[in-house]
Amino acid sequence: MTFETLGLSPALLRALADTGYTTPTPIQAQSIPAGLEGRDILGAAQTGTGKTAAFGLPLLQRLARETPPKGPRKPRALVLVPTRELAVQVADSLKEYGRHLRLNVTMIFGGVGMQPQIDNLRRGVDILVACPGRLLDHLDSGHAKLDAIELLVLDEADRMLDMGFLPSIKRVLARVPKQRQTMLFSATFEPRIRALAMELLDRPVEVQVAARNTIADTIVHRVHPVDSARKRDLLVDILAARHTDRVLVFGRTKHGCNRLAEQLDKAGLPSVAIHGNKSQAQRQKALDAFKAGRARILVATDVAARGLDIPDLPLVINHDLPMVAEDYVHRIGRTGRNGAQGEALSLVAPDEGGLLRDIQRMLKAEITMETVPGFEPSQPLQMNAKPAQGRGGQRPGGQQRKPANRSHGKPQQRAASPHAGPRQHRGGGRRRRTA
Ligand code: AMP
Repeated sequence: MTFETLGLSPALLRALADTGYTTPTPIQAQSIPAGLEGRDILGAAQTGTGKTAAFGLPLLQRLARETPPKGPRKPRALVLVPTRELAVQVADSLKEYGRHLRLNVTMIFGGVGMQPQIDNLRRGVDILVACPGRLLDHLDSGHAKLDAIELLVLDEADRMLDMGFLPSIKRVLARVPKQRQTMLFSATFEPRIRALAMELLDRPVEVQVAARNTIADTIVHRVHPVDSARKRDLLVDILAARHTDRVLVFGRTKHGCNRLAEQLDKAGLPSVAIHGNKSQAQRQKALDAFKAGRARILVATDVAARGLDIPDLPLVINHDLPMVAEDYVHRIGRTGRNGAQGEALSLVAPDEGGLLRDIQRMLKAEITMETVPGFEPSQPLQMNAKPAQGRGGQRPGGQQRKPANRSHGKPQQRAASPHAGPRQHRGGGRRRRTA
């Protein structure tokens, strides 16, 4: 299978050759022909599968069929995305794939000034890549017009729903012509996505690739039971003992991530943090530093990390377990790729036992527990504990997915010192005050 056989135009084929892509990924092979025919598409695919080109190439080719009129022009394609980072990634990819076409790509997202975006809109746009909230601001003020939209893409629709964007999406869509091509991509076809698809898509072609949900079997999972108050000390010890190039650390809340990054800095372990409260420039800078290897540790929340094209990692550490078991899969999907050895460590407090049980049930496996000497928890993990609420456990947008509530996993428990690095944990390890 080649890109030529999918029916792409010479200008796009040239751009793909420039970019170094030789073979379409499975999601591309399935989506591109249908997209070029103008069919609506419902796609289940996550970041890393090549989904951006799967919708981006047909979108570019269809827009390029007509020579855009001279002078300022209204957007003809709208790509809705959940986060600023994803907007940047999608826009960059569209510019790259469309480099031999004369189409204009503009981004709209919050957290930065309105005026430059207004200026861009005035200058004329072919493709708008936008987060729903800020786009609404520009629609309400009359700076953005969607009455010429021919192509609509919802990227990471599941995440947009998680973030409470459904009302904003509906308001945006009320301004988009009904006569259009629509492509909706989501990590899963869960019922709420099917419901949205029913509303928005017309006899869609369904495409699905083996979800990255299937966790690579090259990943070693380990749980360290530890009291909440001692997690940061344990994390510092683990990171100090390891010589791993790059480590991604997940925290549950923005505030928690900030405090973690501060504590790591104090311990001589420089890190960068990304979460929703950081400005776009700060987040991009942090991610660039991590990708380029200038920062060894990236501390992130699920929302900030979702959809980011983070390079392969040898180690992911969950300082807190995610509130929703599927998020464990998203977090861990960043390690053990392409047959590389990966490791996933989770620091689990006694009251997070229920979350661990849900994760084990989803993985259909029990995760080895290793108590780190000096960090023994004051009580065993409460495997029946309900996920703690109100401590940042609320999903963004206030939408809490129902925690599963079925059988109880019985993880094996054994004591070990897993970090046989240069430092050993003895008698409480390195004592540090937790803030
Ligand atoms: P995406 O899932 O769209 O975020 O893409 C994930 C990564 O795969 C990006 O770094 C793309 O540049 C890359 N990619 C997408 N399609 C191809 C392809 N056909 N061949 C090689 N790399 C690709």
